[in-house]
Order: sequence, then C-alpha cells, then structure tokens
Amino acid sequence: MKVAIASGKGGTGKTTLSTNLSAYLAESEKTVLVDLDVEEPNSGLFIHGHLVHQEEVYKMVPEWVEDKCTFCGLCQQSCNFHAVIQLGPVIMVFPELCHSCYACSELCPVEALPMVQKKIGHLQQFRSEGLHFVESRLDIGEEQAVPLIASTLDFVNKQFDCDWTIIYDSPPGTSCPVIEATSDADFVILVTEPTPFGFHDLKLAVDTMRQLGKSFGVVINRHGIGNDEVEDYCHEEGIPLLAKIANSRAIAERYSVGKLLYKEVPEVLEALIKIKHFLNTMAKEVAK
Ligand code: SF4
Ligand code: SF4
Repeated sequence: MKVAIASGKGGTGKTTLSTNLSAYLAESEKTVLVDLDVEEPNSGLFIHGHLVHQEEVYKMVPEWVEDKCTFCGLCQQSCNFHAVIQLGPVIMVFPELCHSCYACSELCPVEALPMVQKKIGHLQQFRSEGLHFVESRLDIGEEQAVPLIASTLDFVNKQFDCDWTIIYDSPPGTSCPVIEATSDADFVILVTEPTPFGFHDLKLAVDTMRQLGKSFGVVINRHGIGNDEVEDYCHEEGIPLLAKIANSRAIAERYSVGKLLYKEVPEVLEALIKIKHFLNTMAKEVAK
C-alpha cells in the first residue's frame, strides 16, 4: 500500500507520525519512507541511516537562441504562466515560473526555444536497519516544489514494487505540492490537533481529499488539549478516526532531541498498532 500522511496545516505532528509509523512497519514488512516535504524535509532528523544513493534533480525549461528568432511573438502568447515574454528585440525566459509544458518550444516555428535541463534540487536514499528512506530537497531560491515531488515519486515507483509499503510524508497545506504528493497514494492519513485552528484546516484538507476522490482517515495528535469539535466532525461526516495520540511531556521531550517515540512511549505504540490494523484491513478489502 501507498499511504500519504498529510495535514491541513504545519506543526500538527505529520512527520512524527510518518517516521514512527514507517520505523514500526519496517520491523515486520518491507517499508520505505519518502519525505516529500521538499521545501523543508525533516524526517531525516529522526531517521538516521547510511547513504546508499544520491542524484541531482532537474526540470526542463526553454532556452532562447537569439540567432534563430524571428520575433513572431508566438512563445509569449502560448505561455499560460508568463514565463516567457518579449521585450522589444529580446525574449526573456523566467525559469522559476516555467511549468515545463513545452508549449512555447513546440510552437516556435524556427526552433529558437529548445528545452534544456535546469537543476532544481537533489534526492538522497538512505538505509536505516530494515527501513529505506528517500528524501528530496529543493535548492535554495527554487519556487516550485511540484516538479521535484513528481521526480521523487517517479524514482520511488521505479525502485520499489508493490511488495513494499510506501509512506509519503507530504507537505502541509492544501495547495499544489500536497495534491502532487498525495496523487500516488492509495490512502491518506490526515493528522490534526483538536483546536479551532486544527479543526478549520482539517476541514480544508477533507474538502481537498474529497475533490481528489481519495480514501482518507484522521489521526488526532495532542489529544487532550482544545475541544471535541474534531471528533464530533469525524463522527458526523463518517470519517474514520484511526487513532488519538495524547498530548504528553514524554513525547515532547523525546521529539525535541530527535528520538523515535514508539519504543519508549506506550500510547504511541498503541496508536501505531491501531493504524497498522486499519491499513491491513483496508489492503485486504482493496485486494478482494
Ligand atoms: S516563438 Fe520562436 S521565433 Fe517566435 S518570438 Fe518566440 S522564440 Fe522567437
Ligand atoms: S515550457 Fe510552458 S510554462 Fe515553460 S515557458 Fe514554455 S510555455 Fe511557458
């Protein structure tokens, strides 16, 4: 199964759940954790493995060949993202805005905009005991996370077949990076906290998952603070509530020094057992 762990907002415990669930599953099944929060990957703070592979990641952008250009203006007209504009006798390309759609390059009548590679980040693969861990990191100054997430998903799908359980640690929010990061998942776990802010952003995340047609469930982190709105909402909406993780000083202390929690905090292990049971039941239903 491929499981994406997402949240409407940052700081809800998405990475805590991703890293602990992956390490726990890896004790009994072939598991890979993929950090797709490429603007700020931090699963590596908790998973300490040795490097087995690394590569640079590129996207394709047009490059203007002045000598061939007839200044017909077709490229500017064809770009929906204003990534190529004509300024008098100069065609300017803005690689940061380019979505690599190839339209300008294909439509240019004199082949004056060939597509070339532009480095956007790098990918690393680690091995930590039984767990494989893949992390991608966007270069400083790069604005588009989606092409790097898409490349990382391609890499993972080539490296790991359907015998593997794949856990995606998704970016926070409900915008394009999350949509790309969850696009490949069979199931999405939305991590939230029982506060008005958490509840508000959970509803946005639920709307997004419904529009994408994804199966999803909720894990409440820091249970015990705030109120019951999230639980009542899940109940009313028929959303599976997979587990609740208590707000606890023991968890905060171990988290702050980069430790995995489930071996030392019984309630975290209990939550992971419930989640694993739910995922196994789902996988069996899907396989029927
Ligand atoms: S489409 Fe090609 S020829 Fe026309 S302005 Fe753009 S680069 Fe120049
Ligand atoms: S490849 Fe597509 S997005 Fe990029 S500059 Fe050309 S038309 Fe615009």
